[in-house]
Amino acid sequence: LSKRAYNFNAGPAALPLEVLERAQAEFVDFRESGMSIMEMSHRGVIYESVHNEAQERLLSLFGNPEGYKVLFLQGGASTQFAMIPMNFISAGQVGSYVMSGSWADKAYKEAKLAGGAHVAASSEDKSFLAIPDLKSIQAADNAAYLHVTSNETIEGTQYAEFPDSGSIPLIGDMSSDILSRSFDINKFGLIYAGAQKNLGPSGVTVVIAKEEMIAESPSNIPTILRYSTHYNNNSLYNTPPSYSIYMVNEVLKWIGEQGGLAGVESKNRDKAGLLYNTIDGSDGYYRGVAEQGSRSIMNVTFRMQSEDAEKQFVKAAEKEGFIGLKGHRSVGGLRASIYNAVPYENIKVLVDFMNHFRQTQG
Ligand code: PMP
Repeated sequence: LSKRAYNFNAGPAALPLEVLERAQAEFVDFRESGMSIMEMSHRGVIYESVHNEAQERLLSLFGNPEGYKVLFLQGGASTQFAMIPMNFISAGQVGSYVMSGSWADKAYKEAKLAGGAHVAASSEDKSFLAIPDLKSIQAADNAAYLHVTSNETIEGTQYAEFPDSGSIPLIGDMSSDILSRSFDINKFGLIYAGAQKNLGPSGVTVVIAKEEMIAESPSNIPTILRYSTHYNNNSLYNTPPSYSIYMVNEVLKWIGEQGGLAGVESKNRDKAGLLYNTIDGSDGYYRGVAEQGSRSIMNVTFRMQSEDAEKQFVKAAEKEGFIGLKGHRSVGGLRASIYNAVPYENIKVLVDFMNHFRQTQG
């Protein structure tokens, strides 16, 4: 096997090597069918068993919550930004949004187009370098739902806990931290995530929702954009992204082998702790971007004294095989995305590099 990069990409991102090797082993002839899973009908028993298995594994990782259904959709989390208001906002209602950063803002703007949007809380005055305090969140009286972004991938902030939205359904964009830690899914009416960070390759979007929210949808929106269409057809209304779903199933197996959500959470906390300690212990050579209480354990954002120093850092890092350390183009700086599949050892190699760089360049 050729040397694998130290991959800190924000998404698509690192996948577990074990999963890639397993997929490689069964790539050409899947379960003795004489073909790869990509080549078979999505209406056949082999594919359907994988499809159903992936749904079951997901629910099982969340402790098999009562009354929830998994949907496999397409169009990324960005399509969910539009589907959510189209499906849930009735006349006279709005969607209430917690404005925590760049992705929350994108979700909010879609709701403005497709129903009506309200700001339930915002940290824009802090340039989104902290998440809005839980206590400051106030949904509108006519809110169809309250929308939160559990992890802001670009700014590197994350909610440690979630608001209690009372009788208003809570909806979570968990694109960049789904399956990274345990939480009570029963608080949520619906969560969603593009797969390409913690779940598998791009191409499939996972929605986990209370059945009562998705069993019926407005009939005046396009059929393909109704949750009910996918709910009623077990996400097989049209051709699903079968290979991506197969990979998600393999990643879910792997998470099970890591000790489930508790197992990955403890590893993720160790990884983030090591990286933040290195940043905080650098006498200001590296500076964390997000405020202490809002720091993400998935996307660690940091800066150096100057953009020039950051450029030098990225260049030197790339030479050593570190990929993806440049911050998002909208905010600059540096970012290490350390999703589930990034091993602790790779963080160790990164912090050794960071310390060495500081000592030799600083
Ligand atoms: N929400 C968050 C939190 C994200 O990180 C991303 C992608 N980086 C998106 C939404 C958009 O996802 P997609 O590219 O799957 O549409």
